[in-house]
Amino acid sequence: MQTKFDNDYFPVQLKRYPTTKNNSLQAWNAADSYLLETLHANFTLSENSNILIFNDAFGALTLSLNQFKPTSLNDSYLSHNAIKTNAQSNNFDPLPNLIYQLDNSFNTFDFILIKCPKIMDYLDEFLVDIQHQIHKNTVILIAGMVKKMPKTLWNLLESRFGSTQTSLTKKKAKVIQLKLENTNNKSLYPIDFIQESTSLKIFSYANVFSKKSLDIGTRFLLQNLPELASVQSIIDLGCGNGIIGLNLALKYPDATVKFVDESFSAVKSARLTCQHNLKDSSQHQFILNDCLTGFDKNSVDLIICNPPFHQSHDLSIDTAVKMFNQSYATLVKGGHLLVIANRHLPYYSPLKKLFKNVKKISSNPKFNLFLLKK
Ligand code: SAM
Repeated sequence: MQTKFDNDYFPVQLKRYPTTKNNSLQAWNAADSYLLETLHANFTLSENSNILIFNDAFGALTLSLNQFKPTSLNDSYLSHNAIKTNAQSNNFDPLPNLIYQLDNSFNTFDFILIKCPKIMDYLDEFLVDIQHQIHKNTVILIAGMVKKMPKTLWNLLESRFGSTQTSLTKKKAKVIQLKLENTNNKSLYPIDFIQESTSLKIFSYANVFSKKSLDIGTRFLLQNLPELASVQSIIDLGCGNGIIGLNLALKYPDATVKFVDESFSAVKSARLTCQHNLKDSSQHQFILNDCLTGFDKNSVDLIICNPPFHQSHDLSIDTAVKMFNQSYATLVKGGHLLVIANRHLPYYSPLKKLFKNVKKISSNPKFNLFLLKK
C-alpha cells in the first residue's frame, strides 16, 4: 500500500518493500513524524548541515529530509532497495546517498537521526562507530515506538555518551536527545565463539543472527549433513555469520561456496569467519543480495538454507518461500536443496509443490531436515 507520509515539512509517498500479504502496513510510523517535528521545532537546518540518518527502513526520514542531502546508513540490502524505489516514485533525482558503513571519507556530522533498531547491540555498535565523526555541537536524536524501546536503551545511551533528555510520549512514540559527554568508547565487535566439538572460530558483527552461540537449528543441520557426491558449487543462502558455508567448504574442499545474505553485517561476518578458518578463502564469494535474485539458472549443485522467519518484525514465511522458489530455479537438474525447517512453520507444502522428490532425512521435536532433489 502506498500512502502519503503527511509530515508538516516535506510530505512524501511511501511504500513498504518487499511487499507482504499484509498490505495494510504503512511504511512509516509516529516515531518518524515525532522525530521530524522535534528536529524542525528545535534546530535550524541549512544547506550546509551534514546529516546522518541511521536505520530508516523505507525512507520516511531520508526522503523527507532530501533537500538537505542527508547520508542514510542501513545494514539491509532490502532497505536500500526500498528507499531507492520510494525515491524514484517521488521523482527524486539524484537518488539519496545510501551507505552500509561509515568510513574515514565522511566529515563530522551536525545531526545524527536514529530510528531505534530492534537489536540494541546493533545500536551500540553504531554509537561506537560514530564517535569520531561528531563534534561538540552534534545533535543526536533517537526516535522509537515506546513498546519497542527497551528499558536497557537508556542505560546503553548513557553508558556510551552521557545524559539523555526524553520527550513526552506522543502517539505512542518518544524522542530522546543524547548529550555528548563521553566519547571514548571501544568497539566490542566483531565478537566470536568456538563452534562446539571443533576448533572453528565463528565471527559476528552486532546485527547478525545468533552471534553469541550456535543456533539450535543450525546445530541440528550441521550434525546431520548428508553425504552427497560430486558437489562443485554450493550456496549458503541466508548465510549469517557463515557457519554453515564454512563447514561445507571444509567438507567439500574443491567446491566454491557463495555466501549470500541481505544483511551487510552478515556478509562481512561470513567473510571474516572464512578468512580466519580457511587457509585460502579466495575461491569463495560473499554476496549481498535479496535471496537469489539475478543468479544464473541451472548453475549450482547444492543450496543449503536455515530460512529467516521474520519480515520487518513480523513472523512470516514469505522470504523462505521466495528462497525455495529461487533455489529450484538456480539448482542444476539433479542438484539438492537442504532446508532446516522449524516444525511450527508450514514449509512442507511449498517445498512439495516445487520439488517432487522431498526426503525428511532427520527430525527432532523442534526441526525437520528436508533434502530436496531437483
Ligand atoms: N545461516 C545462518 C545460521 O544458520 O546461523 C543464519 C540463518 S538466519 C535464520 C536467516 C538469515 O537469512 C539471516 O542472516 C538473514 O539476514 C537472512 N535473510 C533474511 N532475508 C533475506 C533475503 N531476502 N535475502 C538473503 N538473506 C536474507
